[in-house]
Amino acid sequence: MTSEPAPAGVQLKADVLAQYQVLEDTVHQLRPNEDLKALRQAFEFAVERHGPQTRKSGEPYITHPIAVAQILADMNMDLVALETGLLHDTVEDTSVKVDEIRKLFGNEVAHCVDGVTKLGKVHMYSREERQAESVRKMLLAMVSDIRVILVKLADRLHNLRTLGSLPPDRQQSIAQETLEIYAPIAHRLGMGRVRGELEDLAFRYAEPEAAAELEHQIRERRLANDQSLEQIRQSITVKLSREGVPARVESRIKRIYSIYQKLRRQKIGLDQVYDILGIRIITDSVKNCYAALGVIHNEWHPIPGRIKDFIAIPRPNLYQSLHTSVIGPGGLSFEIQIRTEEMHRIAEEGIAAHWKYKEGKKGPAEDDQRIVWLRQLVEWQREMRDPGEFMSTFKVDMYQEEVYCFTPRGRVIVVPREATPIDFAYAIHTDVGHSCVGAKVNGRIVPLRTPLRNGDVVEILTQTGHMPSKDWLALVKTSRARNKIRQVVKATERERAIEIGVKSLEREARRLGLPLSRITRDQWEKAASDHGSSKIEDLHAALGYGKFSARQILQPFLPEQPHTAAAPEPVAPGARPQPGEPVPGSEDLVLRVKGIDDILVYRAKCCNPIRGEPIVGYITRGKGVGVHSTSCANVTSLMYEAERRIDVEWARAAEKQFPVHLTVYSEDKPGILNQITSILMHENSNIRSLEARPDEQRGGDAAIVEMNIEIRDKKQLERIMSQMRRISGIRDVERVQ
Ligand code: MN
Repeated sequence: MTSEPAPAGVQLKADVLAQYQVLEDTVHQLRPNEDLKALRQAFEFAVERHGPQTRKSGEPYITHPIAVAQILADMNMDLVALETGLLHDTVEDTSVKVDEIRKLFGNEVAHCVDGVTKLGKVHMYSREERQAESVRKMLLAMVSDIRVILVKLADRLHNLRTLGSLPPDRQQSIAQETLEIYAPIAHRLGMGRVRGELEDLAFRYAEPEAAAELEHQIRERRLANDQSLEQIRQSITVKLSREGVPARVESRIKRIYSIYQKLRRQKIGLDQVYDILGIRIITDSVKNCYAALGVIHNEWHPIPGRIKDFIAIPRPNLYQSLHTSVIGPGGLSFEIQIRTEEMHRIAEEGIAAHWKYKEGKKGPAEDDQRIVWLRQLVEWQREMRDPGEFMSTFKVDMYQEEVYCFTPRGRVIVVPREATPIDFAYAIHTDVGHSCVGAKVNGRIVPLRTPLRNGDVVEILTQTGHMPSKDWLALVKTSRARNKIRQVVKATERERAIEIGVKSLEREARRLGLPLSRITRDQWEKAASDHGSSKIEDLHAALGYGKFSARQILQPFLPEQPHTAAAPEPVAPGARPQPGEPVPGSEDLVLRVKGIDDILVYRAKCCNPIRGEPIVGYITRGKGVGVHSTSCANVTSLMYEAERRIDVEWARAAEKQFPVHLTVYSEDKPGILNQITSILMHENSNIRSLEARPDEQRGGDAAIVEMNIEIRDKKQLERIMSQMRRISGIRDVERVQ
């Protein structure tokens, strides 16, 4: 039976079953009230789905998920986490769909398995520190249930424990990724034990020589001091009990990677590290922590500057302890950490320790403490919702405002939420932004307006010479992209104006029978300066924007002609505007084109916009920029030529009155006209005309008042209209456009 190939229906080897049994026993011991049926189901499902798969070491694959679940069980995690541990590779490595898991194991497990699967797809490509921080944030941002991270950490821990059977390059990259991404996350979550094991295991693969050398040095130092350390430990135990401080005293050696970091960071030698050897005192209360510290300092001389009170001021990850380093017998320096049981558990297990309290072992007051703890722990949490809700769902929505995406080569690009591939393109480089013609997200072509999501791999499709369009302004979220696009739009608008200017000159010259070739460059330059432009090009632009008509420019070049009917009407010499002076009818005191000062602008007759209304400009050949209200019916049909559209705004300085036509529908009551005019006088609005007549359509005593008044801005108009509506007897007030 043993050598027979395993049929599809899987044979459970005895050792796999035994491994699972240990898991069940652990859970049963730590959480006696838990029904283990679902756990067994998850186990059987994973066994069936992973089938004959094996690990690189040759073991059945299923041993890995069981080991991951075991790590989680040892952390006293709940059944959802354990089931996720058992199932965490089924979606990635087998044909299982998340929906199937949802049906069999419920929403929470499905959600967690899905989360772990997604995290598995994120790869760290770059070794830059800045990048590592972004990836850490991104991973946390991708996770909506903290158990996903805990399962992922357990997964990584077991992979590291069994890393020996992988080829060296895989070992190297997994070890690096662990040091840069996963260990710091464990640290952030306060999980000292997991972080320590991750770091020490990874360090040996990431830098084998440095690790071996340091290990050797530490061993020597330890051998030399082991006995004295044990003596110190015993003597502390005796002293504390004599002083009535209940305590457990342990000796410890600083972890190898932690020593390595210290050596590198402080550029010191091993003999300058005071805290390689250490004693840990675990007592029952905060008061006794300080009592123990007194006992220690009474006995040995503390090294100045080495006393740290992390009880009064906890670390950001909520680590609490008293630290001191002393010179002991024989000049041996060592570090002493003093903490309560509770602080110890939190230092070792971090957020996982919190998990246990959630199970209702502690009272509500204690739970509040946990919330405070968690709130601080997740210091990244910017939008903390109702803490109760937070607790019940245990959600982490960190870095809500930021989205972390990758270039195809793995560079992390951070963009705001709702940002699009265009923002992404400009974040890479201005030229990439300008020449962007499309984008692929996760290998698929998407519209440029598509909002990016965490973990998206974004590839920008470019075309040399392509230029951004104005419509992009509506699609971008970053000011960088917006500014770059604006610059280009402004420049191209000018180019277009120049083109229009040149063409209108040519056309007008043809009409006048004036060969342009006859006009010299000097003459052009003089014409430009006569019209307030320093360059011929500026003159063309001014023409294109409609500041002057081609006729005005060409006029001086025309031969003096007697008044004949056939010849075009020459403009009287005095009628030609002086340089810089606006052409008659120009309203450029009231309206201006954004970013451009010298353009002829006029309010379109069709909608007659007034100050304060949203407006849009439209370049009209030879006439300048017509300004319409954005609600004007003509705008939609005009704007099909999108490139002639131009941003305009109401100039601030000008005090200008706009004529507005109002129609008032009222009852024919005495005093109504009086009230209307008194409102207008009160508002300082000039009345151009006012006329009342009976409303023939409605008949009876209905009347209509038509008036032309002068208005400063939209607000004033709204004020006047609402005051009129309040007059008793007035049915409605309408603005006639
Ligand atoms: Mn795994």
